[in-house]
Amino acid sequence: TTAEEITRELKERLVGKKIGGKQNIDDVLKEEIKGTLASMMDIKGIDLLKEIKEKKEKPFKILFLGPNGAGKTTTMSKITHLLKEKGMGVIWSASDTFRAASIEQLEKHAENLGVRVVKHNYGSDPAAVAFDAIKAAQSKNIDVVMIDSAGRQETDKNLMQELQKIVRVAQPDLKIYIGEAFTGQALLHQAQEYDKMAGIDAFVLTKIDCDAKGGTIISLLYRIKKPVLFVGTGQEYKDLKKFEPEFILDRIIA
Ligand code: GDP
Repeated sequence: TTAEEITRELKERLVGKKIGGKQNIDDVLKEEIKGTLASMMDIKGIDLLKEIKEKKEKPFKILFLGPNGAGKTTTMSKITHLLKEKGMGVIWSASDTFRAASIEQLEKHAENLGVRVVKHNYGSDPAAVAFDAIKAAQSKNIDVVMIDSAGRQETDKNLMQELQKIVRVAQPDLKIYIGEAFTGQALLHQAQEYDKMAGIDAFVLTKIDCDAKGGTIISLLYRIKKPVLFVGTGQEYKDLKKFEPEFILDRIIA
């Protein structure tokens, strides 16, 4: 669908267009293609810092969701690093009570970053953990609660219902879908299913350093019409870039 739309708009821009003597055809084409792609990525962004600051009642609640291994924990750490640099207080909810070692993994990052983790035992109700984390943040006047969640396939009905329960109980201000930039068409499908089940407010696309041009982002933005907050550019906490359409355009059209 996205490719068809690109073709349609390009035709509209190019058919019958006169290109003057001094103009280089390649340059004109590149500009028109860039313009077409940019218009398809023109989605109103979210200023995360502003939203957090402007929320009247603390804490601002962020839920991280997406499939296993996409980079949820890493991205949560990166965003925490960013917010802490801006002087904000962050607390984490270890709501992946499903995957072995997930809580320990979270605690390791938390120790590095100096944030508190609210946790229960493995197998316990992830929504209850989130509830406790929110209470803890309220009592200590902490700015942001970040809720990790177990990675799941969109086809897993039980886990998707569990996710819906987290959403119901925690009432997140922002639900961020974490996906791998190089997953292609499957990412779009998966994100659409997640959106239907739990509602997505924004994306972070990870591993853009792993040889991905990031073309999937065009489809995501055009089809789902939710902004991409950041792209992950590596494994370290600093490897997070605010998403700008030019970033993708320059990679696709050199
Ligand atoms: P989760 O299961 O969704 O919580 O995924 P993790 O946060 O544990 O990440 C899975 C793996 O992907 C880890 O080895 C991370 O270091 C790696 N990873 C996450 N984000 C990025 C990124 O932007 N670039 C690269 N190269 N690796 C990443």
